[in-house]
Amino acid sequence: MIIDAHIHLDHYTEQDRNEILAQLANYQVEALIAVSFDLSSCLKNQSFTQDDPRIKAAFGFHPEQEIPVLEEIDKLFSWMEEHADEMIAVGEVGLPYYKKIESKGKLNYAPYIELLDRFISFAAATKKPIVLHAVYEDAQIVCDLLEKHQVAKAHFHWFKGDDEVMKRMIRNGYYISITPDCLYEDEIQQLICKYPIEQMMVETDGPWHFEGPFTNQRTEPKMMIHAIEKIAHLKNLSITYTTQILYENTKKFYKI
Ligand SMILES: [Zn+2]
Repeated sequence: MIIDAHIHLDHYTEQDRNEILAQLANYQVEALIAVSFDLSSCLKNQSFTQDDPRIKAAFGFHPEQEIPVLEEIDKLFSWMEEHADEMIAVGEVGLPYYKKIESKGKLNYAPYIELLDRFISFAAATKKPIVLHAVYEDAQIVCDLLEKHQVAKAHFHWFKGDDEVMKRMIRNGYYISITPDCLYEDEIQQLICKYPIEQMMVETDGPWHFEGPFTNQRTEPKMMIHAIEKIAHLKNLSITYTTQILYENTKKFYKI
């Protein structure tokens, strides 16, 4: 069986979503971790979990957008507190690396760090795992915050970064997840070789579009099969064993 450890299910059209859900069993996809973008996205994902038990929702605020006013942030946190039983994790949260690049370094990071600190402290208080968007140099800042709050159950989705932060993440027991871009991205292939399989999961980050063999294709969970084959090949493991361990890691991490 396979679990998609990170998907934006609410960002698909209803028709696409229904088609994808109808096909999951054909590709041995047992569950999906549906991460949220903001409060309205949380509400959508919450309703999907009520309709389909294979969908597990994480609630949070995606960092690659403008910071809302404090009143809105407070509203999100009180909603999350109220619905803590319905959330499998806090996420997607993190730091806006790509927005920072776009702004040529002019983006004020302080409010983003402050907001993330609040999410991590929320995860610690509710004892929930946390799903992080934190790449390159941002990962060090996020490690500092996780260590400060003693949060160990951290999932750095689609992680990219240097060896130094990667070693710190491995030491701290953090997990990463691999997307279908591992078929054509050298950087990700190197990461797969270095990161322990015991701390690895697979994801699509759908509906994000992939390139290489996936150019012009709708992103869907069945693509993970190709990613798993690539991981098995790079790590010199059997496909059966790789599929099994990635599945067990995800089940263990998210307690599903
Ligand atoms: Zn995402």
